[in-house]
Amino acid sequence: MFDALTEKLQNTFKKMRSKGRLTEADVREALREVRLALLEADVNFKVVKEFLTRVEERAVGQDILKSLTPAQSVIRIVNDELTTLMGSTHERVRLASNPPTVIYLVGLQGAGKTTAAAKLARYFKQQGRQPLLVAADVYRPAAVDQLETLGQQIGVPVAHEPGADPVRLAQLGMERSKKLARDIVIIDTAGRLHVDEALMTELARMQEAVPAHETLLVVDAMTGQDAVRVATAFHERLPLTGVILTKLDGDARGGAALSIRQVTGLPIKLVGTGEKLDALEPFNPDRMASRILG
Ligand code: GDP
Repeated sequence: MFDALTEKLQNTFKKMRSKGRLTEADVREALREVRLALLEADVNFKVVKEFLTRVEERAVGQDILKSLTPAQSVIRIVNDELTTLMGSTHERVRLASNPPTVIYLVGLQGAGKTTAAAKLARYFKQQGRQPLLVAADVYRPAAVDQLETLGQQIGVPVAHEPGADPVRLAQLGMERSKKLARDIVIIDTAGRLHVDEALMTELARMQEAVPAHETLLVVDAMTGQDAVRVATAFHERLPLTGVILTKLDGDARGGAALSIRQVTGLPIKLVGTGEKLDALEPFNPDRMASRILG
């Protein structure tokens, strides 16, 4: 994950550490390298600019340069600011005080939405909850079969009714949750190739009929800035509450993880780290920053 970025940052910091005492020019040179590394990792340029302004304000002061371990201090500042960039603290999926909690998963086709629905159901089941999956991706019949298979694997019921429209399926999910005493309803909605008006209207209609506690956008980390654009477009039309960032196990460069929060204001709540159903982790900005710095 983010290997190229980590390697570049490590090289920069190694050079800085080998110097012992640092001049202001040394720090500025190091920060130039950090800037390049972030841009090459496909981090949004505005985010990079603001990030560096904040780091520079803290790192170029006399106190840092005169400290016993100036390089360590600069690295700590970069670490702090990377953490802030990603939202500082872990944001949990919020559960309704009056169950069932309704969670919509939305996103473009191929982002990993159906897989994420099953992973999330498994995750809650492990915490002793009673999830129900709703197969509402009616335009891709294979998605319904896929979810039913995944539901069987993890022992979670899947609500579906052939021929029903997505609004009806959301309602069916609520009916089944009552009948089966389920406290979390996870709705796998239709994915499209592009963000389109029809998709947005349909999602809005579903949420009018069955209001959401969480609307999580599933985006593929490998798509970098595109993931950020998708998040912006969805958030303009739907009140999203967070992001699930998938495929972090691949060779994603880091751009999506590091830009989404700043650009859209949305917290990344969970990350997908593999195709298997146990490959879902809570997103912790501080741990992610440490991993990036290596
Ligand atoms: P959907 O069209 O958004 O519902 O996407 P799917 O859930 O069908 O996933 C598309 C592909 O991405 C499948 O081959 C999944 O196995 C794969 N996938 C999903 N999440 C992850 C992940 O976190 N890591 C990896 N490596 N593959 C994933």
